[in-house]
Amino acid sequence: FDAIVIGAGLGGLLSSAQLLARGKRVVVLERLPHCGGRFTAKTFQGVQVSTGAVHMVPFGSSGVLAQMLRALRIPHHFFDADVFGSFHVHGKSYRARGLLGVYQFLGPRQFFWFTRIGYLMFFKPLPRNERVLPFDLWLERHINVRRNPQLVAFFERISRFALSLELHQVSTEEVVRTTKNMLRFGAPAIVEGGCGEITRQLQRHIVQQQGEIRLSCDVVEILQEQESVTGVRVRQKANGAEAVLYAPLVVSDIGPRATNALLHRHRVTQAEVLKKGSFARQAAVADREDSVEEEMALHEAVGLKVHVLSDVSLIPHRGIMYCLDTQRIAGIVQPTNSDPALAPAGKHLLISHQVIQSNNVEEERALALADLRMLFGEAFDTHCRVLTMGTYRGEWPVNRIAQGEDTQPETAVRGLYLVGDAVKPSGYLMVEGVAQSVNRFAALLDE
Ligand code: FAD
Repeated sequence: FDAIVIGAGLGGLLSSAQLLARGKRVVVLERLPHCGGRFTAKTFQGVQVSTGAVHMVPFGSSGVLAQMLRALRIPHHFFDADVFGSFHVHGKSYRARGLLGVYQFLGPRQFFWFTRIGYLMFFKPLPRNERVLPFDLWLERHINVRRNPQLVAFFERISRFALSLELHQVSTEEVVRTTKNMLRFGAPAIVEGGCGEITRQLQRHIVQQQGEIRLSCDVVEILQEQESVTGVRVRQKANGAEAVLYAPLVVSDIGPRATNALLHRHRVTQAEVLKKGSFARQAAVADREDSVEEEMALHEAVGLKVHVLSDVSLIPHRGIMYCLDTQRIAGIVQPTNSDPALAPAGKHLLISHQVIQSNNVEEERALALADLRMLFGEAFDTHCRVLTMGTYRGEWPVNRIAQGEDTQPETAVRGLYLVGDAVKPSGYLMVEGVAQSVNRFAALLDE
């Protein structure tokens, strides 16, 4: 082979398509029996229940992912949201159609500070000493946070939903860059057929272009000689047989922690990551022992997602409903407003997302349910059924590296590159960041 791709997530599949477009012979190795990683779905009780994403593409049909899919001629259709979103506060939902919607729920005083913050973010160069400030501290410098609770909640819920981060976990510069990109590219979109449709089409394209995809095939070691990559050792799930594949180029879609571990023939386990995970981040940083341990200190973004099936429509638009007075849930989408086929006929799929704020998962789940009851009242108990409620952390997080802390595609080993959601360039969130990581890798290939 000319190139080996580890992992058939969106990043691995897009990279493979880019390599094939450059005439390389490619093999994709995936540990699971299916492609797509955290950007696909399983049919459960007639509903497209996703393995990660809420079927949403952050920058919609004009974003980076859409542009790459068009360039690669991968069939897809995105339903761009009809509004930026709505804001649920004081027991009511306010649609954000332009600034008027924001004025309605912020009121005149908080709206004044909203426009002032907007001016500082978009029209004035950010002073150097403010760029690295955590966004909560930056807000505190410019507004009285106690007197502007809904304004703070506005930023907080968008950050929790879009980045899975609290405001103290993200720098001001990163908030400004991602917000500018959101405004530049436009509203998010729901994928027709759900997120799995994109990765299915990519899989089909790779096979059509004579690429090889091996499923249930675990990479157990990355091989190198004199600091250049030479190939990988794989273990076939079915019979445990090991084999070596050689290539001068290896692209890893599994993040720096697991990649680094494979260079030492070590497999990172979920238990290991959780032990050293985000809540223990400070301790982990102080406790660095060797390079594998150091990678353990990486800060992933963690979340909890609930799939709800409802007999009645609860959100009247295609955008995100941000929830400003909830205890945990940051936002909810109803993707069946865009593609009704994501749920059985006449039913509505709702997906909520929140940041996990403690190690007490039971409590996080209970708070999610309490929020859903608060938001939808009686309708939640009479018309809704919770299908799944899952946490995303450790080796299956929302983001392998938190927005703004991402790593580079190049590694210390020649010929070994990283793509995926640990390599998101600044300002590009979620799958837009994954696609942009592949753009960066492709640019390195073309150098
Ligand atoms: P992955 O999808 O994790 O792919 C890596 C693949 O490598 C996996 O298939 C894994 O099985 C495989 N693998 C791992 N180790 C090995 C090994 N040793 N050998 C072989 N294979 C291996 N993004 C959006 O844009 N919109 C959203 O609405 C959205 N919502 C989200 C909600 C949640 C709850 C979560 C968890 C994520 C969400 N995201 C969303 C983020 C998005 O899902 C990810 O950014 C994206 O799917 C990451 O793709 P990836 O290719 O980087 O990694």
